[in-house]
Amino acid sequence: MKRSMVYLVGAGPGDPRLITVKGLECIKKADVLIYDYLVNVDLLKIAKPEAEFIYVGKQGGAHTLEQEEINELIVKKALEDKIVTRLKGGDPYVFGRGGEEALVLHENHIPFEVVPGITAAIATPNYAGIPVTHRDCTSTFGLITGHEDPTKDESSIDWAKISTGIGTLAFYMGIKNLPYITEQLMKHGRSKDTPVAVIRWGTTTQQKTVVGTLGTIVQKAKDIKPPAITIVGEVVKLRDQLNWFETKPLFGKTIVVTRSREQASEFADKLYEYGAHVIEFPTIEIAKPDSIQPLDEAIKNIHSYNWLVFTSINGVDAFFQRLFELGKDIRELKGLKLCTIGPATEEGIKKYHIKVDCMPPKFVAESVVEELKKVTAIKGEKFLLPRADIARSFLPEELQKLGGKVTDLVAYKTVMAQPKDINLIEKIKNGEVNIVTFTSSSTVRNFIQIVGEKNISSLNGRVQFASIGPITTQTAEELGLHVDIKAKEYTIPGLVNAIMESTTSTMRKSS
Ligand code: SAH
Repeated sequence: MKRSMVYLVGAGPGDPRLITVKGLECIKKADVLIYDYLVNVDLLKIAKPEAEFIYVGKQGGAHTLEQEEINELIVKKALEDKIVTRLKGGDPYVFGRGGEEALVLHENHIPFEVVPGITAAIATPNYAGIPVTHRDCTSTFGLITGHEDPTKDESSIDWAKISTGIGTLAFYMGIKNLPYITEQLMKHGRSKDTPVAVIRWGTTTQQKTVVGTLGTIVQKAKDIKPPAITIVGEVVKLRDQLNWFETKPLFGKTIVVTRSREQASEFADKLYEYGAHVIEFPTIEIAKPDSIQPLDEAIKNIHSYNWLVFTSINGVDAFFQRLFELGKDIRELKGLKLCTIGPATEEGIKKYHIKVDCMPPKFVAESVVEELKKVTAIKGEKFLLPRADIARSFLPEELQKLGGKVTDLVAYKTVMAQPKDINLIEKIKNGEVNIVTFTSSSTVRNFIQIVGEKNISSLNGRVQFASIGPITTQTAEELGLHVDIKAKEYTIPGLVNAIMESTTSTMRKSS
């Protein structure tokens, strides 16, 4: 059976969560993804790993492929009997040349579907606090290309009619032509006092909005580069009251997350919720231990232990993964008591429908010992500690001192990651990064190794460093980093709170 199928999908305006459910399904089933400059690449992460990814972005004058070549490419891939998902920014049929691509498919008898997306003219003003229609201001709304060549003899835009005949006007691709557009509108009867907003990279954490009037916006928006949309009309005034996005507590802050890729998302999601722009710069990778034998031995003799103690979520995952790989399941753990260092580790255990018997009030090894003392006679008890190769020796040593019999083994190892070259140092030096976060001592050590020890002294003062807990802070300070933000509760939510408190207090100081 032929599978050839093309989905022309609107990927939405920038915020990757603004794609439709159907759009997401089309990404998941694609054999080939052909995507544009304005498509948020985070969306590609949910595609099949074996899918083919082809970038055909047209950014200003720099085209990777001309439109005719893109059309040919889509047809060629579909004729290879593949499911092709063609991802376009916003909506495929709004100034997206989606109509042309669909016609080519029709001519070639290739089945296709077109999935609408949220177009920039609706979503970006929303994220700038501007509803495009409002009963008190306007009942009409027009979408216009601002890309027209101003030297053309005859404009295909009827300036006289749109200037006064439509309430809210949204100009796509109109940044270069902003002087021409505003001049035409005023010349044809729109007041120079009409409010105007120019929104760049709308709906993303890098959104920038400039507000003025038809008379002033050219000067005010002179530093704004594409992609940006221009909104003209009285509705722009509502921004003073409806600006829900840019007023988020961490909006405008760029925060670096240094933990491993697998663990970054919970943290990054929380920062995103508060409006921050997150740069993922994983400094750690989790790998199998050099020898799996000690863990296998321990699992084989699991019934001889009284306590299973986890001090990290990676330890939990490594232990259970191996348990299952050995063909066993959670029934093996019957009778065993479980202890975790904190709530994230506890959640990791709960995933397997197992209850945790002991968790300390403070999420450090010292507190684990204190809490264990309360619930068990440590003397004579057997403890299994599946941990990282670089875990601190405090916990096993302390339990041993108290008479416990401890098997401390390497269940996983952490290795230094090779983050993709994103010029982090340059960004920090240019003031483009506000906060670098550390969630363990090894994130600190690896970060320093990756960026280079000689660069460290020049970073203090240019960027704030934030730490999840006292051990991480100690490591950072010993290595020459000044830690400005310290979590009071040693968890990711605790760290997020500390970041929020520090930014609101800086805002208070500066206002
Ligand atoms: N099909 C797209 C529009 C493509 S034309 C849609 O429906 O949104 C490209 C123009 O769209 C850009 O030059 C800019 O004017 C506008 N645009 C798209 N995404 C934008 C964003 N996130 N912020 C501001 N303008 C955007």
